Order: sequence, then structure tokens, then C-alpha cells
Amino acid sequence: MSACPAEYKKELAQTALAIVAKGKGILAADESTGTIGKRFDAISVENNEANRRAYRELLFTAGADLNKYIGGVILFEETLYQKDVNGKAFTAILEEQGIIPGIKVDKGTVHLAGTDGETTTQGLDGLAERCQTYYKAGARFAKWRSVLKIGKNEPSELAIMENANVLARYASICQANRIVPIVEPEILMDGDHDLERAVYVTEKVLGAVYKKLNQHHVYLEGTLLKPNMVCPGADCPKKYTPEDIGRATVTVLRRTVPAAVPGITFLSGGQSEENATLHLDAMNKVPELKPWALTFSYGRALQATVLKVWKGDTANVKAAQDALLVRSKGNSEACQGIYSG
Ligand code: 13P
Repeated sequence: MSACPAEYKKELAQTALAIVAKGKGILAADESTGTIGKRFDAISVENNEANRRAYRELLFTAGADLNKYIGGVILFEETLYQKDVNGKAFTAILEEQGIIPGIKVDKGTVHLAGTDGETTTQGLDGLAERCQTYYKAGARFAKWRSVLKIGKNEPSELAIMENANVLARYASICQANRIVPIVEPEILMDGDHDLERAVYVTEKVLGAVYKKLNQHHVYLEGTLLKPNMVCPGADCPKKYTPEDIGRATVTVLRRTVPAAVPGITFLSGGQSEENATLHLDAMNKVPELKPWALTFSYGRALQATVLKVWKGDTANVKAAQDALLVRSKGNSEACQGIYSG
């Protein structure tokens, strides 16, 4: 028995495929109120509802070309119900462009007792009811982020199993309620580990995630995976080329992600905008069979310049929107392996 009712399978598979259609990826605009506060602090913008609304309106109305590059946008719950200056719902604005609205449904991380700073992610209680409410409001896919870290003894077996299980349980609840789950096991780039260690850990984590998705009867055709790229730690003294990272990432994914999964939509995880694009381009150029779309679901790597240009000033809206289109176009090329810089 699948976790996904037979009558939802077609819709879920179609939604997942549409989000990662050729040349398209995801704009992750689902920063929680706390996280967007950090982004606004950096540009001296007050973190209030009016500014959050104005900023998200800027993103969703960036221009006629946005839907050539963006197949889905992940929203925070507040944004799902917000409207533009003229009172039109953001969900309607996205739908009219053929961009599918999604929703972050996890409720953040908490410490896993007995571990050295490892976490699990909360938010399963009431999730079925929330999925039903979000579907009515226009959301067709969801995101749940689990976080793992690389240390001398991390990730622990406990953290790997707990997070894999919670991701699978989330995915099963989403599908039972007509929502495509994006499964996000993020392994942080913090640390000085080398690329080989990132390969080893990412393979163990993704292997565990797909085992649990299988045990929970999740319908893989109606899911997307949102992993980290396989990169060396941010403080690793050894330098690697985009080709090294592209090859390492494709190698790990080929070993762990079933061909039934329609798309792999990477997080940027603190990489610079340009590196996130170069690495995505490099992995799409790897001459191996890649049965899934390899594309982007970037937060920071799509919005860093946008925020810096905007600075909370309406006079800068157009220039900030142009910056979003530039980055989106670059990543659209990268997900086809044709980025020219
Ligand atoms: P970054 O691309 O900034 O890592 O954010 C993506 C995301 O949605 C993390 O959950």
C-alpha cells in the first residue's frame, strides 16, 4: 500500500514534474520571520509585516521572464495569505504566471539530547490538517528541512536515523493530503572536512533517507529531493574545482537516489551566488546517466544581490527585480549545463 492515495498519484507526479521542467528551478522565499529578520538586519530594514510583504511582492512580480526560470516558489505561512498593494493574493499572482506555490511546513529544529549539538526537526503534530488548509489556500508542494552536521563523530547514527524517519513521516502525511513533499536533509558546510568526507557522509545520509521513504511507502514519483551539494567544509584548506564538486555530487546521487524521483533541487547552503551557479552547471555537465532533473531551490544564492540592491527603498525595486532575473536566468542555464557566466 502506498502512502499516496491512488487518486492523488497523477496530480502529485505532474506537480513535481512541472516544478522541475526543463530550465526551471525553485525560488526558496520561505525564510521564517526570524531568518528574514537576519537578512533585513544586514541591509538595515526593520523586520515588520509591511516590509516582509513589500519584499515578497518585489520577488513575485519581478517580470515577465520570471516563469521561464522559476517553476515553484516556497512560501512561509504568513506569505501564503498575503496580498499585493492592490489586494491581489500572492498565490494568484504566482498561479497566473504558471509558478506553483509551495509552503514550508516544518517548525524548526530542536536539540537531540545526548548528542553534541545535533538536532531533529519538529512539526508533525497537526500536519495533516495544516496540509489540507494550505492546499485550499493554493499550496501544491511543501518543504521540510532536517539538518545534519559533519564533525569527528557526527552525524551520529541517532541523528541520521531520527531525521530520516521524521522526513519520511512528513512525506507520507503530505502525500495523503495531496501535497508534494520536498525532502530536505541538509548537511551543513560548517567544518574543515575534505570533499571525500562529504561524499562518505552524504551517501550514508541519503541512503538512510531513501530506506525510510521506502519503509513509509512514500510514492517517489510524487516527491522532490532537496539536498546539499557535496562540497568540502567551509574551512577546508584543500581547494577543489567546480568539476570536482559536480562529479562528487553526481556520484553520490547516482548511488543513492532512485530513478523514480523526478527532480533534485539543491539548496545553496551559504555558497556564494556565483559558486552555487557554477557547481550546478558543472554537475549537469558530468557525462554520466542522470535520470533526474538536477536543478536549484536557492534562498540566499538567488536573493543576496536582490536584498543588497533593494535596501528597503521603493526607488530600488526595479533594479532589485532585475538582479533576481539575472540570477534566475544563470541558474536556469546551469540546470541545463549551458551556463556561460
Ligand atoms: P539556501 O539556498 O539559502 O540554503 O536556502 C534554501 C532553503 O530553503 C533552506 O531550507
